[in-house]
Amino acid sequence: VIRCRAAVAWAPGKLSVEEVEVAPPKAGEVRIKIVATGICHTDDHGLKGSLPNVEFPVIPGHEGAGIVESIGEGVTTVKPGDKVIPLCLPQCGECSFCQNPESNFCQKSHISEPQNLLPDKTSRFSCKGKQIHHFLWVSTFAEYTVVPEYTVAKIDAAAPLDKVCLFGCGFSTGYGAAINTAKVRPGSTCAVFGLGGVGLSVVMGCKAAGASRIIAVDINKDKFAKAKELGATDCINPRDFQKPIQEVLTEMTGQGVDYSFEAIGHADTMIAALASCNMSTGVCVMIGELDSGSEISIDPTLLLIGRTWKGTALGG
Ligand code: NAD
Ligand code: ZN
Repeated sequence: VIRCRAAVAWAPGKLSVEEVEVAPPKAGEVRIKIVATGICHTDDHGLKGSLPNVEFPVIPGHEGAGIVESIGEGVTTVKPGDKVIPLCLPQCGECSFCQNPESNFCQKSHISEPQNLLPDKTSRFSCKGKQIHHFLWVSTFAEYTVVPEYTVAKIDAAAPLDKVCLFGCGFSTGYGAAINTAKVRPGSTCAVFGLGGVGLSVVMGCKAAGASRIIAVDINKDKFAKAKELGATDCINPRDFQKPIQEVLTEMTGQGVDYSFEAIGHADTMIAALASCNMSTGVCVMIGELDSGSEISIDPTLLLIGRTWKGTALGG
C-alpha cells in the first residue's frame, strides 16, 4: 500500500487535499505515479454532482500523465517505468463499439456503466478509514492511481509529462472533434464556441485540416490572443452585438459556416452553434456537457433541410 496525497471531494463542492492509501493493483490493473494533471471543465461538472454515475467521496481528475509504478497479474501491454496516459474513455477492444473503426466510445465508459469502482466493484483508495471512489477510473488528482490495463496508453519515453497530460482529455477532445468527428475539409469555414482547453484545441484541429476561416467565439476576450496564435482568423464576443450570435455568424459568412463546434456546455450556445452552420450541408459538433438530466428543445426545421448535429466523446 502506498501513502500519498490526493484531492478528495467528500461531497459536491467540498474538495480537500488529504493523505490517502492506494492499494496495489489487482490482476489486470496498473498502478501509476501521476506526474502531471490538467484540470478540465468536466472535473468541475463532476465536483458539482452534475455528471451521471459519480459517487462521493471521490478523487476527481482525468487529464493526467505518469509513470507505471507496478502492474497486476496478467498485465502485458505496459511495465514499470513506462510513461503512460490513463484514458478516461477506455478501450476494452472487445465491445461492438470498440470493434467498429468509426467509433471510439467503449461500452465500458461511464455513460453506460458507472466507473466509480474498478471493474471488480471495489476501490483501491481509502482515507481516514473510508473507501474513496474512483472517477472515470482514472482519478488523476492523486499522486498514485490504479486503473484497468485497457485504460492505459503507453507513450514515448521522451514525452514531457507536464505537457502531454493534455492528451488525456482537452487536447484529444477538441482536436479530434475537428479531425475525426466533423472531418473538417480544406478551404472550409468553422466557428468555435468557447475557448477553454477544449475549444482552443478545436481551433488547432480546424487549422490542421486546412480550414480557410476559423471564427472563435467567447464572452471572455482575454482568450482571443491565444486563439489567434493557434489559428483563429476572427474572434468575436457575443456581448458586443445586439443580435443573436448565429445571425452575426451567418452575416459574416453569407449562409453560415460549414462546421460549428460547441465547447462550453450550455443549452443556448448549443442551439446557437447549430443555427450557425449552413442549413444545407452544415455540421455542428456538440462537445460541451450539460448537467445530467437536462434537455434541449430546438426548432426541427434546423435539421430538416440537411444540417447534421453530432456529438463527440474524447474527439472520436
Ligand atoms: P473551460 O471552462 O476551460 O472553457 C469554456 C469557455 O467557454 C471559457 O473560455 C468561457 O469564457 C466560455 N464561455 C462560457 N460561457 C459562454 C457563452 N455564453 N458564450 C461564449 N463563450 C462562453 O472548459 P473546457 O475544459 O474547455 O471544457 C469545455 C466543455 O467541454 C465543458 O462543458 C466540458 O465538460 C466539455 N468536455 C467534453 C468532452 C467530451 O468528450 N465531449 C471532453 C472534455 C470536456
Ligand atoms: Zn475532460
